[in-house]
Amino acid sequence: MNELRPLIVGAGIGGLTAALALQRAGFRVAVYEQADELGEIGAGVTITPNACHALNFLLGEDRVESICHVPASGAIKHFETGETLIDTERGDGPKRRYGANYCQVHRADLHRALADAVRENDADALRVGARFVGCEETDDAITASFADGRSAVGDILVGCDGIRSAVREALWGIDEPRFTGYVAWRGLTPTGDLEAEFLAPDSAAFAGRGRTFTRYKVRHGELYNFVAFTRRDQWEAESWSERADIDEVLSEFSDFAPEVQAILRATPPEQCFKWGLFDRSPLDRWTQGRATLLGDAGHPMTPFLAQGAAMAIEDGVVLARAAAAAADWREALARYEAARRERGTFVMLESQVNARRIYERDPDSLSRNSHRSAEALGLYDYNPLTAIV
Ligand SMILES: Cc1cc2nc3c(=O)[nH]c(=O)nc-3n(C[C@H](O)[C@H](O)[C@H](O)COP(=O)(O)OP(=O)(O)OC[C@H]3O[C@@H](n4cnc5c(N)ncnc54)[C@H](O)[C@@H]3O)c2cc1C
Repeated sequence: MNELRPLIVGAGIGGLTAALALQRAGFRVAVYEQADELGEIGAGVTITPNACHALNFLLGEDRVESICHVPASGAIKHFETGETLIDTERGDGPKRRYGANYCQVHRADLHRALADAVRENDADALRVGARFVGCEETDDAITASFADGRSAVGDILVGCDGIRSAVREALWGIDEPRFTGYVAWRGLTPTGDLEAEFLAPDSAAFAGRGRTFTRYKVRHGELYNFVAFTRRDQWEAESWSERADIDEVLSEFSDFAPEVQAILRATPPEQCFKWGLFDRSPLDRWTQGRATLLGDAGHPMTPFLAQGAAMAIEDGVVLARAAAAAADWREALARYEAARRERGTFVMLESQVNARRIYERDPDSLSRNSHRSAEALGLYDYNPLTAIV
């Protein structure tokens, strides 16, 4: 089976994790990325213990700890008064309970660590400027075509090309993503410019009705990553993300606590972006013939459980384990989908439920019982290194 040649479309966090995990299992992979240069947006991402197991295995715990910040503590606060409503235990608690950290990282740092590791294994594995436009299958192989006329032949093709996946469209036809009614602003703020009282706890979410402002530390505490969600009737911009004006965020969150105002005012204007949040209905199948889907391509989800990247990371490791355990490509893809589709779909649907709860919640009576976190759903109990494949 080490002769199996996987083609991966998309070098986001999902595609790179899959590539690295497949390399570790002894496969020679080729990754095709549409962008001319590899990279990630300037924002943070929370890595929960279920995904941290995979990163520890693939990158080594020291490397993961060198790029990730483990928050000492966290809180959910009242949006207006800043009063702590719920304390969330962090620090080494999650590691003791689940065997891996709950941590937060600059997306570019994680992306670079994964890409470097893939290249160290095989300098030729990552190919940029390759926009997937279609695929064709024969009895013996699958051929992917790219917009610049290039093509690539492999045994399986894994679409890791995000929510607007061209591989998904090639397999299952056109199905436009839905606007969820939420927009998000994301920004990075130097913590050195903030008063000491705004620096604890390490991570906090200010909960309003239909609006949330979350901030946490990345880059060893030098930066706050913030994500601010609110409702909108529609998303008018042509692109799915655009550079944002801090004044717009300040006005939208003008009734939020002084800490929120201070973070927004300290954000460099070029460091703030606005996103329309989209999702899709679950697919009944991911795999068709020699091609399958991974990460947001298969299960795009709203960020209300902070699990999209975590699910993509889990998918990558399980795909590699499925390929290593299988006798042929057909069994590899069947094992992968059987192990992953139910969980991916569950988390995707629960993220939609959370979007509605956030919309309906009353910040004045928020309690631990009314809060439905990824941990409360049992998602941290999963370990992609040991889950049945
Ligand atoms: C506001 C916000 C906050 C979030 N916070 C968290 C969080 O805290 N924790 C968490 O786990 N998740 C979070 N997520 C979700 C997470 O960002 C995504 O689920 C994750 O990035 C998906 O990774 P992916 O590799 O599947 O897709 P992507 O990151 O979208 O990568 C897809 C890659 O494929 C490439 N590509 C696209 N089309 C083609 C093509 N035709 N040919 C070749 N290449 C192509 C793209 O250029 C890109 O490099 C958040 C999302 C949002 C919007």
